[in-house]
Amino acid sequence: MLKTHDCGELTPQHIGETVQLAGWVHRRRDHGGLIFLDLRDRSGLAQVVFDPQEVAEAHATADTVRNEWVISVEGKIAKRPEGTENPRMATGEIEVRAVRTSVLNPAKTPPFYINEESEVDEALRLRYRYLDLRRERMAQNLRMRHRLVKIIRDELDDRDFLEIETPILIKSTPEGARDYLVPSRVNPGHFYALPQSPQQLKQLLMVAGVERYFQIARCFRDEDLRADRQPEFTQLDLEMSFVDESDILSLMEILYVRIVEEIAPEKRLPKPFPRITHAEALERYGSDKPDLRFGMQLHDLSEIASGSGLGVLTGALEQGGVVNGILAPGSAGFSRRELDQLTDIVREHGARGLVSIGLEGEAGAPVAALQEDGVRSAVSSHLSVETVRAFGAALEAKLGDLALIVAGPEDVVRASLSALRNELGERLGLADPNELAFAFVTDFPLFERHEDSGRWGSVHHPFTAPRPEDIGKLDSAPGEVLSRAYDAVVNGYEVASGSIRIHDQGLQGRIFGILGYTEEQTRDRFGHLLEAFEYGAPPHGGFASGIDRLAAVLAGDANIREVIPFPKTQTGQDLMTSAPSIVEEEQLADLHLEFRQPS
Ligand code: ASP
Repeated sequence: MLKTHDCGELTPQHIGETVQLAGWVHRRRDHGGLIFLDLRDRSGLAQVVFDPQEVAEAHATADTVRNEWVISVEGKIAKRPEGTENPRMATGEIEVRAVRTSVLNPAKTPPFYINEESEVDEALRLRYRYLDLRRERMAQNLRMRHRLVKIIRDELDDRDFLEIETPILIKSTPEGARDYLVPSRVNPGHFYALPQSPQQLKQLLMVAGVERYFQIARCFRDEDLRADRQPEFTQLDLEMSFVDESDILSLMEILYVRIVEEIAPEKRLPKPFPRITHAEALERYGSDKPDLRFGMQLHDLSEIASGSGLGVLTGALEQGGVVNGILAPGSAGFSRRELDQLTDIVREHGARGLVSIGLEGEAGAPVAALQEDGVRSAVSSHLSVETVRAFGAALEAKLGDLALIVAGPEDVVRASLSALRNELGERLGLADPNELAFAFVTDFPLFERHEDSGRWGSVHHPFTAPRPEDIGKLDSAPGEVLSRAYDAVVNGYEVASGSIRIHDQGLQGRIFGILGYTEEQTRDRFGHLLEAFEYGAPPHGGFASGIDRLAAVLAGDANIREVIPFPKTQTGQDLMTSAPSIVEEEQLADLHLEFRQPS
């Protein structure tokens, strides 16, 4: 090694020792003759001093170096002179008195500061990702992610799971997205798909008798990218045989608790994780991934609204819609502008508008004390004070609170209020950034109807088992069949989903039929799985947990790109290597492909 020690490990115990260090020049200061370099390696920083009286040659070299040059230094560890210690630096009590130094590689001036946490344009960071990853916060994220994955491996190894790799070139497994396809050169006209997940392979491993499988698996989905999506992402993929829902959920809880307690012990982690059904989640929070750090539940105000005489509400009810509301505590005094912003949010989710009613009066007084002149609303002239009191009572309001009411189709109302709830949770400081509120959401519907085609699709994926008590409704009322699928959520994000699977060939075939596959399509796409189920498939189930999102939550980042070493942009581009890129005609010809300009 070019070094005997890491910079960050040096302590007063090393005083008097001669050490050899190597790393990057983090910062350079010239103090009237003495040159100070902060030398950085992956362990941290150490201050190196060059005294022209003592080491003229080394001092002359140090005079030429600049930030981010790679150098090696030989020196003696000394206590820093009285009064010059730096308590903010781990190695702040000592310094390295340089004896010799050499430049291992000079560096151009970086396009942004490595040695400070300043805001840098993300495109520039992605273009020079190798420099961005030198910055302390990103280096920390890399280390944290390593520990996260290691905890998973350790815990699952202790529990007798086998880590098994599955192929990247496979036959498509549907997870609801478009596949990335890879043309086969040796089989003209044939294509592999990159796995949207190893779903079918892990089920086949259960048929193979593995019983406990996991993999840190890369998955690929060709979707329109949203802020928190990447075309490729990493999941902890896991499957077990001879289990039911509670076995899997307990295992997930054990894993998440250990991860949080080891990586982010400062976070508040309510335990045991609450379990709520999909229907309850929608009814109470308007979302199947509710942020449970705060209450602010949705309330059904339809009945009161029907007698309110307010056209926007009664009109929606007449069209078969609903009226729901939430309460923003202490927010009766929101400005016009703040209310307009909230209205924009519900409009984005398809609502026609937002009815807001400030309940003014002596703060904290019961809503029964509300007077006519205390009703602050654009529609106050259309509402009796009795109706407003009834809304207030249903929302469990006090004076000083703000009632927010949306009317329309149930899904629009729920989505709108859920978005308002999330916004207000942040804005009113109700969502504690120091808490991780995990929960399991269970009993998802098995199918959902696709608006455009009118066909049934899987809510989770086609391998998910229906609840045994609902199997009788598969043909007569598929929309009412609940499944054995579950999600794990934390602070409003979905971090895992899974299910108990179908292991019966006949039932699996029926599901494919309801999903609209012909027998031939079923045989062609899933014949291998159905065949395997004829050879003694054990009952089994599992889940996949997104590592990127979990790491982002642990790092306190909203953006998963902060915890992915080499992420792609929103338009799927790698700004460092310029992928995707145009390929040579010849390469296309080898693959029996021809390029056609998009029309
Ligand atoms: N394959 C599923 C997914 O990627 C997870 C599972 O059901 O295990 O979401």
